[in-house]
Amino acid sequence: MNRQGVLNLIRGSGGREEMLDSLSRLVRLESPSRDKPALDTLRSLLANRLCDLDGSVEVIANDQGGDHLLARFPGPPDRKPALLLGHYDTVWPRGTLDRLPFRVEGDRAFGPGILDMKAGLTIITHVLEHVVCRMPVPRPIWVLFTSDEEIGSPTSRGLIESLARQCAYVLVLEPALADGRLKTARKGVGRFRLEVEGRAAHSGVAPQDGRSAIVELAHQILRIQDLQDLATGTTLNVGVIQGGTTANVVPARASAEIDVRVASLAEAERIAGALQALGPVTPDTRLDVSGGFTRPPMERSPAIAALFEQARQIGHGLGLDLTEGSTGGGSDANFTAALGVPTLDGLGARGGGAHADDEHILIDSLPERAALLAALLLELQVEP
Ligand SMILES: [Zn+2]
Repeated sequence: MNRQGVLNLIRGSGGREEMLDSLSRLVRLESPSRDKPALDTLRSLLANRLCDLDGSVEVIANDQGGDHLLARFPGPPDRKPALLLGHYDTVWPRGTLDRLPFRVEGDRAFGPGILDMKAGLTIITHVLEHVVCRMPVPRPIWVLFTSDEEIGSPTSRGLIESLARQCAYVLVLEPALADGRLKTARKGVGRFRLEVEGRAAHSGVAPQDGRSAIVELAHQILRIQDLQDLATGTTLNVGVIQGGTTANVVPARASAEIDVRVASLAEAERIAGALQALGPVTPDTRLDVSGGFTRPPMERSPAIAALFEQARQIGHGLGLDLTEGSTGGGSDANFTAALGVPTLDGLGARGGGAHADDEHILIDSLPERAALLAALLLELQVEP
């Protein structure tokens, strides 16, 4: 079968129903990020699916969460592989299916994790089965399914980075932006914690001996908010504060948790430096800043822009009008892009409601995005 024949097969109604059926099986196996037994059940299903194909499948054991899955499909050995990334954990706790079962309504399918990103996993496996295993591909194809993206990828980051360093480019099957746009830029994500130590005292008997950690924290919060720069896309949110014991004690301790989003590495460095440099306003108090950036920004580099332009043209050949956009949310694309490896994200299903009760996909986007992924794997030109 030729290239066009394969794409037609994927886009025909048979492909649509086949993908919807395998997607329903993934959604019906709940997989919260911190639930190893649930994750391992879904991992077995995915591993069996990959083992049925021609790739070599490796289960990367992870005793702190679900195991990661790596499958390698052969191609010309002198070419660097393409890396496809997906995560099989979701933000949904076990039991959500009782409330929000998998269901189809008109042209949409609903269910926890269906958009983010079990549809992406389905698209990948469908393309592996119907294209990668059936015709020569221009380079080896590596596929990594991880178990902890929704909690910041603590156990998979090193693996993702070491694989990406060996690859020519990375395609991430996270959901598309709301209107179908691909993601060529993502903000970096930082999480910091500020602890303030003051001195406790009876607020009525010896207030002069006290050093209020809460008053000091209040000073610092205003300084922290002043670091925000909306024009460059840098935002800071003091999202949680804690402190004090009872109303008649000058509080000895207070703390704040800060979420930071930045569009560039330069801004990440500016903010990290400024937070570390915070000094106390109130005499005899102490500050301790911990934390850092868990995901570097995915900046729209010239290489990413060029990869998108190729994808746009390839999509045009399929009758798709691809556009691009950015998001304040992070994904594993942040890691690979920050290494300088050309990365496209948002290649997964179109839909809406990720992380919300109305999470859904547009069913027609399954064959559409599968055809796109297949065409990208066959036709993207990236050296070496
Ligand atoms: Zn996701």
